[in-house]
Amino acid sequence: MDTQAFDFSTIKQLHEHLCLDFVNSTANHQNPSEDHLKSYADLLSWSQDVELLNAEEAERLWEVASQQPIKTVALHQKAVVLREAIYHTLLDAALDQPPNIDNLETLNVALTETMSHMRLVLSEDGFNWAWTNSADSLEYIIWRVVWAAQDLLRSDKLKYVRKCDGCDWLFLDVGRGHKRRWCDMNTCGNRAKARRHYLRTQGK
Ligand SMILES: [Zn+2]
Repeated sequence: MDTQAFDFSTIKQLHEHLCLDFVNSTANHQNPSEDHLKSYADLLSWSQDVELLNAEEAERLWEVASQQPIKTVALHQKAVVLREAIYHTLLDAALDQPPNIDNLETLNVALTETMSHMRLVLSEDGFNWAWTNSADSLEYIIWRVVWAAQDLLRSDKLKYVRKCDGCDWLFLDVGRGHKRRWCDMNTCGNRAKARRHYLRTQGK
């Protein structure tokens, strides 16, 4: 594996929904230099942090990626475009606005492609979705986030998607009272408190 890949454990993803962890893989949607997803290796690192892949599966895909460098670069770019489409679609929903048509189309095209890699199979607990050739498909990570996105957009949880008051991250405000304002009280929440304290003391 590429040891230069970003270590996502350092930013403490929220793990509230796979789709939200994906859109929160950047610190700033306007500034590519603050994006933690700078390569396919970063995408693999993210996938392990959110437990979409285990170490062995990530290693296998890294081997496949190493043999297809051009495709790998294109897939990383596709993942970032898709992430922005999903982010803005969720943000529009959080702001009670209709989605941008281009963003929804980007997601729909990816969804059609994703579904062509799904099969109904019979398992012990009944019929379930299974992925075709997931172990060797560099696109597998993208299929999973696209499927997670449609799941969140169609679910009752959508009405609890909020943008943090202190950063670009989205979270699910499912607590009692639904008054959460920050992705994390220990980071953005404390920064906001410190800023208020500073402004108060400056005003004296
Ligand atoms: Zn935040």
